[in-house]
Amino acid sequence: MAVTDHVDLNGFMEGVKKRNPHQPEFVQAVQEVAEDIFEFIEDKEEYHSAQILRRIAEPDRVVSFRVCWEDDNGNIRVQRGWRVQNNNAIGPYKGGIRFHPSVTESVLKFLAFEQTFKNALTGLPMGGGKGGSNFNPKGKSVREIMRFCQSFMTELYRHIGADVDVPAGDIGVGGREIGYMFGQYKRITNHFTGVLTGKGLEWGGSLIRTEATGYGAVYFLENMLATKGDTLEGKTAVISGSGNVATHAAEKIVQLGGKVLTLSDSGGFIHDPDGIDQEKIDWVKTHKTHRRGRIEEYVDAFPGATFHAGKTPWGVPCDVALPCATQNELLGEDAKTLVANGCRAVSEGANMPTDLDGVHTFKHHKILYAPGKASNAGGVAVSGLEMSQNSARRSWSEEELQQMLKDIMAGIHQRCLTYGDQGGGYIDYVKGANIAGFKKVADAMLAFGVV
Ligand code: NDP
Repeated sequence: MAVTDHVDLNGFMEGVKKRNPHQPEFVQAVQEVAEDIFEFIEDKEEYHSAQILRRIAEPDRVVSFRVCWEDDNGNIRVQRGWRVQNNNAIGPYKGGIRFHPSVTESVLKFLAFEQTFKNALTGLPMGGGKGGSNFNPKGKSVREIMRFCQSFMTELYRHIGADVDVPAGDIGVGGREIGYMFGQYKRITNHFTGVLTGKGLEWGGSLIRTEATGYGAVYFLENMLATKGDTLEGKTAVISGSGNVATHAAEKIVQLGGKVLTLSDSGGFIHDPDGIDQEKIDWVKTHKTHRRGRIEEYVDAFPGATFHAGKTPWGVPCDVALPCATQNELLGEDAKTLVANGCRAVSEGANMPTDLDGVHTFKHHKILYAPGKASNAGGVAVSGLEMSQNSARRSWSEEELQQMLKDIMAGIHQRCLTYGDQGGGYIDYVKGANIAGFKKVADAMLAFGVV
């Protein structure tokens, strides 16, 4: 078949929309990737005729299951659970588990699709997957969380394994939840294996896994600024979120001489013109992780800061911005505001936090803009290192792992340059990440034939 006979981008996206009705997040993620891949494969018949993108955009499987649990008042509660195994061409499925009321099959399919490219970019042998539930951990007792995690794993365990699919944490799933799920997996199977990452240090976890996503996003930002001969020293940063990724991104910005002005949660954002220093970051970590409090209480602890209910922080003038909360939290108008206020670089800690309008705005203004699949890959990279340590039954030191994380982020940056350098000093990191990730997975798929 001649190249000209192939379906074009519009035709491809029509098909994706038709096959995935009511799945806007998934369609959005595919669209963002397809825009670059169609240009790349235009003259590459082998990728066309093997229908590679069509196959990556169709998960290997989506497992959906019921999760029943009993609350503290003896009521039976019923939730939905999923595991999306998107693609294992280059390694076992790998990707987090999210517990949040907004979780749907569409959200998990978009995350598993993105994860496939992200994991390829790390240079480590990991395929793409994602899972989760519409369970809302907010307001639940510790025992309720434990019962839910156990019930979730009682169904999930049969679909995962150290060489099959290795889940990790994500929104609503931190060290505590991983502990309950790992305990239940071990109880059911009697196997102590590296079936989950993000584990506690006493039972197979890796140093710096907790910090890796936020730190990695800042290392990536440093790499981007370095292409302009610039550093983070003295830069003002606006960050959204106040969970694992946001607080560790803030910590690394402060360590590198920057000033963090904002953090947020689903209730709104706090603006601290004096800067959110290490002491304040430690307060936020304890407040969110242990007290399970709200970010608005920050202003009681640190007078001088203001709370802006129901708002996102993108209107606060800054040099660099790091969206670290959730998908579609930075829209086209926000992107315009950031650019108008002089923001020079955006490094995404969250997955797909910028909508398509926002992405196009950043590209149009040619600012340094890193999509999450490149800039937040530090977390899954250290998860990959946790898998290696588990397989070898050994642990690396913090210094070794810090260096490996830095090197991996520099390697991802380099891979983005290979396909994203547009000349004239402009690097299209979205294009670079999409093509580099695609090529690695696509070449493995070609080697396997039609499977
Ligand atoms: P956490 O659960 O630790 O924190 C999530 C933060 O985002 C909280 O501050 C939360 O506020 C806020 N948030 C969640 N949903 C919304 C929403 N709908 N609107 C506004 N704010 C919201 O999660 P993580 O820090 O682990 O994850 C944050 C992002 O980073 C996600 O996109 C995740 O997929 C991505 N990511 C995480 C990795 C990891 O290693 N943890 C790896 C790579 C990407 P509230 O407290 O009010 O819920």
